[in-house]
Amino acid sequence: MAAVDVEALKRGERRALAKAITLVESRLPAHRDAAQGLLESVLPATGNSVRVGITGVPGVGKSTFIEAFGLHLIGKGKRVAVLAVDPSSPLGGGSILGDKTRMEQLSRRDEAFIRPSPSEGTLGGVAQKTRETMLLCEAAGYDVILVETVGVGQSEYQVAAMVDFFMVLMLPGGGDELQGIKKGILELADALVINKADGASEELARQSRQHYVNAMGLLRHTTFWTPRVMTCSALKGLHIDAVWGMVVDYYLEAKKLGAFDARRARQYRDWMHQLVREMLLARLQAQPELKGLLPRLEADVEAQRTTPYNAARQIVELV
Ligand code: GDP
Repeated sequence: MAAVDVEALKRGERRALAKAITLVESRLPAHRDAAQGLLESVLPATGNSVRVGITGVPGVGKSTFIEAFGLHLIGKGKRVAVLAVDPSSPLGGGSILGDKTRMEQLSRRDEAFIRPSPSEGTLGGVAQKTRETMLLCEAAGYDVILVETVGVGQSEYQVAAMVDFFMVLMLPGGGDELQGIKKGILELADALVINKADGASEELARQSRQHYVNAMGLLRHTTFWTPRVMTCSALKGLHIDAVWGMVVDYYLEAKKLGAFDARRARQYRDWMHQLVREMLLARLQAQPELKGLLPRLEADVEAQRTTPYNAARQIVELV
C-alpha cells in the first residue's frame, strides 16, 4: 500500500481520505503501525467537528433522515461525513448499514462523504475503526460527522461513547418497550426524535412526544442539558431544521460551560482504557502456556479445588 499523502488529506481530497481509511481498516500489523503514525500526525488537525450519533430500529427512517439532515447541512455550507457502526454479526454476514445506495442524493454531493461500515476489526472491534475514521474525516475538514447504528447489541453504547450528541429516532405510537428500545439507551440520549410525524401519524407523534417528555423528565438531570423530545418527518423534510437547531443549541451551551471538551476528554480516556483491557487480553491469549493451563484451572474451579481468585491470578501471571 502506497503512503498516504497527508497534505492532500488535509486539503480534503477524497482519494487521499479514502486511502487513509483503507490503511486504518487494514488488519496487517505493518499497516496498523503506519496507520497509527498517520493518525498521530493528523491529530492536531482533528476535533473541529460536531459528532452526532443516530440510532433507531430498522425501518424507523435512519437513512431517510440522514439524507434529509445531510442535505440540510450542506445547504448551510457544511461538509458532512456519514459513518456507521454495525452490530458485529456472529455469523459474519454482510453489513446492515452503510449501504451507499440508501442515501442516493446525499452520496452524489461533493460536500458529503459516506463510508460504509468496516468489516469486523480486531482490537477495539468495528467501533475502533469508526473512531479512527472519524478523526481522519475531521482532518479532511468535515464539519459534521454523523455516526449511524441500528439499535442492536452493544452498538448504540459504542456510538454514544464516541459522539458529542446522541439522538434516538423513534416511531410515533407505542412505548419504548414495543419499539425494542432499551432503557439504558434512553438514559444516554441527548434527544429523542420521533420521525414519520406526517399525514395520519402526525397526531399520534404529538401524543408520543408528550409521553416521552414526561418520561424523560424522570430520567437524567445530572448535566446542564435536559434531553429534548422532538418530532420530524424525514420523508417530507419537516422540522429537520429544528433538529439541527437543537444540536447547535447544545453545542453552544456545552462549549460555553466546558462540558463539550470534558465529554470528549472523558471519551478519549475511556477509549484508551478499553484498549488496554483488550490488548492485555490479546497478549494473554497469545501465550502458548494458556492452552494447557486454562482447562486445568477451569476444572479445578468447577470442582472447587481452588478459588476463582487464585485461578485467575495464575492465568494473569502468564502475561
Ligand atoms: P432505516 O432502516 O432506519 O434506515 O429506515 P429507512 O430510512 O430505510 O426508512 C424505512 C421506510 O420508512 C422507508 O420506506 C421510508 O420511505 C419510510 N420513511 C422514512 N422516513 C419517513 C417519514 O418521515 N415519514 C414517512 N411517512 N415515511 C418515512
